[in-house]
Amino acid sequence: MRVVRAHPLPAHWVDGKPISDVSVMGGVVDRYRRLATEDGPVVTGFVAIADAWACTNPSAGRGMTVGMLHAQRLRDVLRCFPDDPWNLAREFDEITERDLRPWYDAQVASDGLRFAAMEAARTGHRPTTPSDPLTRDIALLRKGMLASGDLFRLGLEYLATLATAQEIMNRPGVRARLQEAVAQLAKDPPPAMPAPSREQLLELAS
Ligand SMILES: Cc1cc2nc3c(=O)[nH]c(=O)nc-3n(C[C@H](O)[C@H](O)[C@H](O)COP(=O)(O)OP(=O)(O)OC[C@H]3O[C@@H](n4cnc5c(N)ncnc54)[C@H](O)[C@@H]3O)c2cc1C
Repeated sequence: MRVVRAHPLPAHWVDGKPISDVSVMGGVVDRYRRLATEDGPVVTGFVAIADAWACTNPSAGRGMTVGMLHAQRLRDVLRCFPDDPWNLAREFDEITERDLRPWYDAQVASDGLRFAAMEAARTGHRPTTPSDPLTRDIALLRKGMLASGDLFRLGLEYLATLATAQEIMNRPGVRARLQEAVAQLAKDPPPAMPAPSREQLLELAS
């Protein structure tokens, strides 16, 4: 409660009367299941959708959307292959890899960025530049979206699960505009969110 109250923007969230004890959430994992190899399905007559297919930590708040997108894909494939279990499983795997997998990969990449930022804050170092291209792209999109209304809307397409980061970054000119914006922001940073320093946080939580 002390920590939340020390953040002016969400401080009022704890003005209400609690209706229960604090619920603890832990042990969240990034998990991905594929019921096929490059040679085709390993099982027919059985599919995994939504969280049973893949889940990540819930920080992005997109599990239900991804689950619904996945269910729609399954509906379409069932219509195409009502009496052909092997092709149903093959097609569903292919579509899942093409349309849904990018969301899973992007969240794993975002988690990597977040963990690196937390570790850097803990050890007092600057976060290292991510080595894989997807993580670098997501970092670029998230930073660059603060530069203008147009770039913000692009970032929102990703955050609201309308277009994958991979798709947005492949649009003509987007990467260059984001790179330019991030370079400009480095010279003229936006105002920081009002929040306690790490030292103050440690004091509040201890
Ligand atoms: C803390 C938290 C916050 C989240 N916040 C968001 C958010 O803000 N926005 C968002 O989009 N997503 C959010 N998610 C993710 C979202 O809840 C899940 O991605 C989504 O519910 C997955 O749907 P599902 O149908 O695959 O699985 P579930 O919703 O888990 O449904 C599976 C159902 O199967 C039942 N079941 C299990 N085993 C059996 C069995 N043997 N027999 C019969 N029934 C069984 C379970 O009881 C359950 O009802 C959050 C997740 C968590 C944990």
